[in-house]
Amino acid sequence: MDLAPASQPRRIVNGLSVDVEDWFHVGAFENTIARGEWDACDFRVERNVDCVLALFDRAGVKATFFTLGWVAERVPQAIRAIADAGHEIASHGYDHQRVFTMDRAAFAEDLRKSREILEDASGQAVTGYRAPSFSIDARNLWAFEELAQQGYAYSSSVAPIAHDHYGWREAPRFAFRPVEGAPLVELPVTTAMLGKRRMAAGGGGFFRTLPYGFSRWAINQVNREEGQPAIFYFHPWEVDPGQPRVAGAPLRSRLRHYTNLSAMEAKLERLLGDFSWGRIDAIAHNVAPDTQAEAA
Ligand SMILES: [Zn+2]
Repeated sequence: MDLAPASQPRRIVNGLSVDVEDWFHVGAFENTIARGEWDACDFRVERNVDCVLALFDRAGVKATFFTLGWVAERVPQAIRAIADAGHEIASHGYDHQRVFTMDRAAFAEDLRKSREILEDASGQAVTGYRAPSFSIDARNLWAFEELAQQGYAYSSSVAPIAHDHYGWREAPRFAFRPVEGAPLVELPVTTAMLGKRRMAAGGGGFFRTLPYGFSRWAINQVNREEGQPAIFYFHPWEVDPGQPRVAGAPLRSRLRHYTNLSAMEAKLERLLGDFSWGRIDAIAHNVAPDTQAEAA
């Protein structure tokens, strides 16, 4: 039974995603915790993923989990549990190396290696990719050619905004085909327009630190005024107030990482209830075939 008033437009299904990495993988701590120390860190991603799966189950939503190969190697059973619950397993690369720090051959190998690990763990075909720290921009458009060549259906690797750690501010804000003649679709993380300014509105630290009302306003604007799905993301460590505190990291990184962790779960619950959400492969699949190549 549909109780929505007749004048209400059909609700757009937005893309919900989780970047599956642990608290010590984040870019903000890369100068504080070396890769070689990761295995000695308190490994919390599995229980945090359980918490996220329970949250999605209560809300009745399916999502895409962009997962590090490094994580899937260590807890393949957690990856299988995500897939078995009806969610999509997609790639977040092997060990969170930003794409613009690699050359094309290294990127190709990173893609191949992580896909194999993820497909083995999940029993699903992997067709989606998200670059660590949204690290595809005007400097490395060859990354899209590599993704197309390896048969990926979509990428969600662009932040069309200026940010201190990442961003490609002139990129299209909505779905585009970055490689002429290839079906590959790029679905940038959501921004909203405040006057002429692009505001980050697709999740991460912005969602956690700003009042919930901003995200609700932004997603409403994207859905109702622009008629587009939002692409939203968060991390399992963001629902874990008990994670270890990294003392040596810069103050700005610490503020960004630890603010409002304990309020995050309730905030996500509201977000999941206020909008419709689904897997990103479904959104990529629905992008009109005549959507133009805009970037390269
Ligand atoms: Zn990440």
